[in-house]
Amino acid sequence: MNIQQQIDDIKENLPSHVHLVAVSKTKPAAAIQEAYDGGHRCFGENKVQELVEKQDILPKDIEWHFIGHLQTNKVKYMASFVDTIHAVDSLKLLKEINKQAKKHARIIRCLLQFHIAAESSKFGMDRVEAEALLSHPDVANLDHVDIVGVMGMATFTNDTAQVRQEFKNLHAIFQDLKTQFFADKPSFKEISMGMSGDYEIAVEEGSTMVRIGSTIFGHR
Ligand SMILES: *Cc1c(COP(=O)(O)O)cnc(C)c1O
Repeated sequence: MNIQQQIDDIKENLPSHVHLVAVSKTKPAAAIQEAYDGGHRCFGENKVQELVEKQDILPKDIEWHFIGHLQTNKVKYMASFVDTIHAVDSLKLLKEINKQAKKHARIIRCLLQFHIAAESSKFGMDRVEAEALLSHPDVANLDHVDIVGVMGMATFTNDTAQVRQEFKNLHAIFQDLKTQFFADKPSFKEISMGMSGDYEIAVEEGSTMVRIGSTIFGHR
C-alpha cells in the first residue's frame, strides 16, 4: 500500500474525534508531500533541525506537531510556525515557548508529557510534578501558550494488558488535571497517546490524538 492508502485506511478506522498526527521523522520531504497531495495536513517530527528544514520547503498550510524531547534553546527555531508541542515537561520549557511565541504574536498549543511507561529511559513528568507546575503562579501569565492536554508513551512490549493499563493511567491523570486546573477551560481536551503498535488500544482508552509513523511511511 502507498502512503495515501495507509492514511485513508487508518482514518477510516479512527473515530471522528481522534486526530491523526502522521509521524514523518527520518522520512524525506517527498514522502510528506505525497501524503499532503492525498489531503493530509498534520505531521509530527521529533528533531528541531529536521522539522525546520522540512517546513522550509513544504506547503505552508501544514499543521506541524513537535513530538520529541525539546531543549529550551531550540524553541526559537520553530516558534514562528509550530502548531503543537507534545512533550512539555517543565515550567522552564513552558515559559520559553511562551516567550518565543509572543515574539511572533502567536499562541502555541502545548501538551504536558507524562512518564507512564515502565522503562526508565522515557521523558515526562509524574502527577506530583505536573500539579506543582500547574499550581505555580507564573502559569496564569503565560498568554502565548495554550495547555490543551496530556501526552504519553506506553512501554514497548507485547503485553497488551500492561499497555492498556498505562493508557488508563494517563486518562486518569488527564481527568484529575481537568477537574483541578482546567474545569472552566474547554480547550483542555486532548490526550495524545498511541503509536503504530498500540494506537487501537489507545483509542479504546480515550486517546484524542494518535501519533503514527511506521504504519504510514514504512519502517525507519
Ligand atoms: C516515532 C514516534 C512516534 C511514531 O512511532 P511509530 O511506531 O513509527 O508509529 C510516536 N510518538 C513519538 C513520540 C515518536 O517519537
